Amino acid sequence: MASLLLTNGYLITVNSDRDVIRNGWIDAVGLGRMVLSYPEMPSDTLREGITKRKKICRTFSDCTTAPRGGIVSGCYPLDEHYHHIPEATQLATLKKEASARRAKVKKDS
Ligand code: SF4
Repeated sequence: MASLLLTNGYLITVNSDRDVIRNGWIDAVGLGRMVLSYPEMPSDTLREGITKRKKICRTFSDCTTAPRGGIVSGCYPLDEHYHHIPEATQLATLKKEASARRAKVKKDS
């Protein structure tokens, strides 16, 4: 019997993903932004049985905030590569400006 299970966010955890695959309940698990912060997660989990918790996406949303501001996407908080590129400074400025706008809207309302 074919079945399709779609989830978004934390409905399925790393351990339950592994269990549902091993038990043959589903054929595949798709990962979203987790692959930006921790692309090795599927092999670490399935082959090694370990998960590096510090690399798991924490939904800070920099990977979506950046492209909304015309900046390349990536996991700025957790991927060392993005700490040192010029776009990191641009993103910080973008976030500060957005925060200031939110504060103004809150103050004015
Ligand atoms: S930037 Fe944040 S939301 Fe995006 S992958 Fe990294 S930790 Fe997850």
